[in-house]
Amino acid sequence: MKKTRVAVIGAGPAGLLLAHLLHREGISVVVLEAKSRAYLETSPHRIRAGVMEWGTREIMVQVGLGEGLLRNGYEHRGIYLAYAGELHRIDFPSLAQGWRIWVYGQQYQVRDMIARFLEEGGKIFFEYEVVGLADLETTPKIRFRTPEGEEGELEAEFVVGADGSHSRTRGFIPGLVLKEKTYPFAWLGILAETAPAAEELIYASHPRGFALFSMRSPTLARNYLQVRPDENLDEWPEERIWEELNLRLGGVAQVKPGPLLEKSLTPHRAYVAEPMQHGRLFLVGDAAHVVPPTGAKGMNLAVADAVALFQALWAFYRKGAESGLKRHTETCREHVWQGEFFSYWMTSLLHTQPDPFIEGLRQAELKQVLTSEALKRFLAENYTGRHTTGRWVGLWT
Ligand SMILES: Cc1cc2nc3c(=O)[nH]c(=O)nc-3n(C[C@H](O)[C@H](O)[C@H](O)COP(=O)(O)OP(=O)(O)OC[C@H]3O[C@@H](n4cnc5c(N)ncnc54)[C@H](O)[C@@H]3O)c2cc1C
Repeated sequence: MKKTRVAVIGAGPAGLLLAHLLHREGISVVVLEAKSRAYLETSPHRIRAGVMEWGTREIMVQVGLGEGLLRNGYEHRGIYLAYAGELHRIDFPSLAQGWRIWVYGQQYQVRDMIARFLEEGGKIFFEYEVVGLADLETTPKIRFRTPEGEEGELEAEFVVGADGSHSRTRGFIPGLVLKEKTYPFAWLGILAETAPAAEELIYASHPRGFALFSMRSPTLARNYLQVRPDENLDEWPEERIWEELNLRLGGVAQVKPGPLLEKSLTPHRAYVAEPMQHGRLFLVGDAAHVVPPTGAKGMNLAVADAVALFQALWAFYRKGAESGLKRHTETCREHVWQGEFFSYWMTSLLHTQPDPFIEGLRQAELKQVLTSEALKRFLAENYTGRHTTGRWVGLWT
């Protein structure tokens, strides 16, 4: 492992999708991943996104990465909003020109992508941590540490920072500005062996705080409670979590307690890093932007970035065109800010706000969303991904 055309740092959804797309076009690519394959595929710390926009589902299927998700995923044709003891359905196909969503765990999709890439002769170096970059404006060098603790160097024509929210590669972009927002709440999330509260997701707005009821399968529920960012998880024994989940459902449905497989705290924050490039280094996914999880946009934006960068690299290698690479930040900025905007909107709409005046405004807005066709359409179009991965569907049809 001395030279490659494209070096991808990080085997998350962004890095793996980009590597797959390049490899199937015969453009040499190497993936360096700090963690082990087993950790990525099975660690409870990597249970993350579960909602695929329709565009993500279509892209995965079109590029040959859809076998697992089609076999084991679930189509959802809407979501429910629970408010003041009533359940309101947002019907996606009728509001968003036939679009809907697909439920399939990110960890399963990552597992599928790793298997496919390796089967097709792709190269992933697991437990290879990238520790430095150099010569990014000429011939990039990637310094890494092997599982044995030795240091080595890889030379590439391009480097892709797909190394997630704690990105090290981001630090190699001079003049990078991080546009940030923190929220006054977090999600206490659980994964439990029990039937989900409903066959589709329920977003519950309750005076005690927001709650989300989602699913991984008919026997695996993924539920969340709005809590403080500094919440002590030790104060949340299992019985308290189930009781609170049922309280916040407000009687519209019920969850049955089941064994907890995971319990975590995710503080809400958002940022966009600009520019997303320097010389021959390009950022994709969480390395460049993070959203609060309410709108289920994180993994989907990572997919949109990977497709955008693939197009630019393909044009460079096949046609000698550099304009797509030069415009990487501008190209991604379009879907990234749409995703940030919707995530901000949905988070503000559904979470109980500490400021009583803002809370009054929030409830007024929510009542309008529940009664206005135009606002329901806005929600459905954004949730299913018209302005994010929707931009990129059809490239392979
Ligand atoms: C707890 C949690 C819950 C979430 N829930 C949702 C959700 O419900 N819906 C949604 O859409 N999104 C959700 N997200 C966000 C979503 O998971 C991310 O947006 C998505 O993982 C981004 O993909 P990525 O490829 O950019 O980064 P990642 O998936 O983070 O992958 C980055 C990879 O880079 C590797 N890496 C890091 N540093 C180095 C290095 N120096 N050298 C080599 N490798 C390195 C990491 O080990 C990792 O495997 C959630 C995120 C978290 C943390």
